[in-house]
Amino acid sequence: ARQFFVGGNFKMNGSVDTIKKIIGYLNEAKLDPNTEVVIAPPALYLLLAREHLKPGLEVAAQNVFDKPNGAFTGEISVDQLKDSNITWTLLGHSERRVILQEDDVFVANKTKAALDGGIGVIFCCGESLEQRESGKTIEVVTNQLRAVKDKVKDWTKIVVAYEPIWAIGTGKVASTEQAQEVHAAIRAWLKKEVDEKTAEETRIIYGGSVSEKNCKDLSKQTDIDGFLVGGASLKPAFVDIINSRL
Ligand code: 13P
Repeated sequence: ARQFFVGGNFKMNGSVDTIKKIIGYLNEAKLDPNTEVVIAPPALYLLLAREHLKPGLEVAAQNVFDKPNGAFTGEISVDQLKDSNITWTLLGHSERRVILQEDDVFVANKTKAALDGGIGVIFCCGESLEQRESGKTIEVVTNQLRAVKDKVKDWTKIVVAYEPIWAIGTGKVASTEQAQEVHAAIRAWLKKEVDEKTAEETRIIYGGSVSEKNCKDLSKQTDIDGFLVGGASLKPAFVDIINSRL
């Protein structure tokens, strides 16, 4: 069975004080021991988070660069994450794809760099409302995944996060059927394009307006192996989402 995985993407939110507070209640809470928990604060607070978060809970960057070092102002390397005991990174979040104009190949290059360096990747994919309405959801998502497949052989340290853009920060969560349908299609794609073992073992998590109210139903779907949580990861309700399957 695939281990349930819940990530908290703080995005560009938080301060020394509020991040310490969130970590404080995560450290104190009774968390489902079967859930893998990873929080992704802004880069500036990664070390603070790693210092305060209890062992067993992991910290992720929200992005990483694909070059090892050098003249790349504003970027952070895989080695620097490892040096700081940061074991995961998000990559390909739609806010970076859309606002920072990262394309599929760039995201795939960064995915390869992270995996080659031994960092786990929460690989985000998902369609816009316009793409969904024109029936292109599966095509968009599999194209994003194909860019990774072209560069990466071993998927064991990838968690795929399906995040429909229209559901992010909108309060408009995908229905259990909509989410399950895309998750199943991603798993079928992995089986066909990578191999059966990868398809069976890869966690496919859902993101987009996940809350303490909708998490239980979503968590019961066959192909939903966890969540990537934005807004609610900044609140105590994050604990309920981590404990969806209890
Ligand atoms: P919300 O949970 O705020 O909709 O954000 C989802 C997300 O983008 C997580 O990466």
